[in-house]
Amino acid sequence: MDNAVRAVTELVCSTDHTMTRWEDYFKGYEKPKYQLAASTASQLNLAEQVEAIHNYHFNYPRLLRSAFIHPSYPFSYERVPNYQRLEFLGDSLLDMVCVNFLFHRFPTKDPQWLTEHKMAMVSNQFLGALCVQFGFHRHLLQFNPIIQGSITEYVVEITEARLQAEEDAIREGRKVSDCARDYWINTKHPPKCLPDIIEAFIGAIFVDSSFNYREVERFFDEHIKWYFDDVTLYDSFANKHSVTFLNRYLQENMGCAQYRIHATQLPDIGDGLPPKILATVMIHGQVLTGEERESARYAKVAVAQKALEILKSGTLTEFRQTYRCDCKEKGLVGADGENTVNGDKVRRAAEDIRVIDMAFISDSETQSSRNPSVSYSETQSSRNPSVSYSETQSNRNHSVGST
Ligand SMILES: [Zn+2]
Repeated sequence: MDNAVRAVTELVCSTDHTMTRWEDYFKGYEKPKYQLAASTASQLNLAEQVEAIHNYHFNYPRLLRSAFIHPSYPFSYERVPNYQRLEFLGDSLLDMVCVNFLFHRFPTKDPQWLTEHKMAMVSNQFLGALCVQFGFHRHLLQFNPIIQGSITEYVVEITEARLQAEEDAIREGRKVSDCARDYWINTKHPPKCLPDIIEAFIGAIFVDSSFNYREVERFFDEHIKWYFDDVTLYDSFANKHSVTFLNRYLQENMGCAQYRIHATQLPDIGDGLPPKILATVMIHGQVLTGEERESARYAKVAVAQKALEILKSGTLTEFRQTYRCDCKEKGLVGADGENTVNGDKVRRAAEDIRVIDMAFISDSETQSSRNPSVSYSETQSSRNPSVSYSETQSNRNHSVGST
């Protein structure tokens, strides 16, 4: 790691970048005031309870507290910021540790396979289940009765799923610890705040430990690896994803390449809740259908499901007439329905969801963009050049999202 730091410093060649060792980064990091302030009894108590679940001792219990503070919780109560920044950091660390695991354990697998299996490891479904398994949902501070209701509902369902898996194991003469490790796949999706807690917690450990990546790896080894020891359990995880299905359906069944799934943030209506995300499916510049959800990822999954139902109820001829689709004639799709501009469909779909979600997080973090739909489009089109032609058209149709 130190050699890499030196290499960067050489390349950057600036008086602003003088690091020669990895630990210099932490020295250069000024700890925020909230982190250094004296901890309250309840913050110390939380640190104690969490340490019993994951054996890591927090030097700064207020940093840990931050991982459990939902954006709806008023800052003035504890003067600790909400988890969004830590979640942003933890999301990337989790990605890195999962990629590292898959890359080394499966030296012959192609990037598409690796991406599909990573999707399962970093999915909200898995992280939500892990959050409940730790009992972390009980420590979340938030101010939204609707979220509380959906947490309770999810906790009941996922706890039941785990119990059933354990009972099945016993019935089949296996140990409880050897129950079906993919029990979390077939439940409803968790409210987004639960996976957020896990990501923020990983971010908090990293910062608290002076940016010690070994601590992230230890968390992975102790709590995540078990679920993915037999990674073949998740071979169909990505394919079950409705966004992936829609991509395949449009390209292979309809022979169309000029479509996009577009996510845009709706205006804040001042109800104290985070603004919703509207996802729409556009085909040749026309809106097929739309769905609103609390995150871009969920909105896209929902809209993809709805779009599939609509498309499946019509014929190919109707589709080509309605959307004036001439993609085949223009050679935009290959004979086998493969998109000739970018054949890597599954990976693109997976990345697409991720990019949009990240764009939303950074937007809401910085409040820098007053017109998020434009920045989404830019992010998406740069990653997805095959559909960038419909940019102007789709923005016009989406004025609802940016006014
Ligand atoms: Zn087309």
